[in-house]
Amino acid sequence: MSRLATPIRKNDSVLVITGKDRGKRGRVLKVLPADKGKVRLIVEGVNMIKRHTKPNPNKQVKGGIVAREASLHASNVQLVCPECGVQTRIGHKLLGDGRKVRICRKCEGVVDK
Ligand SMILES: [Zn+2]
Repeated sequence: MSRLATPIRKNDSVLVITGKDRGKRGRVLKVLPADKGKVRLIVEGVNMIKRHTKPNPNKQVKGGIVAREASLHASNVQLVCPECGVQTRIGHKLLGDGRKVRICRKCEGVVDK
């Protein structure tokens, strides 16, 4: 597995800090593989775009406009700590059992359960 250039993981709760959706919170649905070191994320309800779909009777697909999430750069979001509920930078900590976990830089709480 390649090293990701972001500590953000799937199912993390994040806050958008730049762009048109600044201030929105959402859950990370997908972390896309890094392209030239830049990781992109799909975040629930953030960066919505409308796509026009053609009807396809063979697949029972109705035509129309479908809204879905477009990806955004991982650098545009910050983790929302599940412990203290504040946006934070992520640190790392080695536990006694050898597991490396992510921690909140604000409250030192463990992000990975
Ligand atoms: Zn915290």
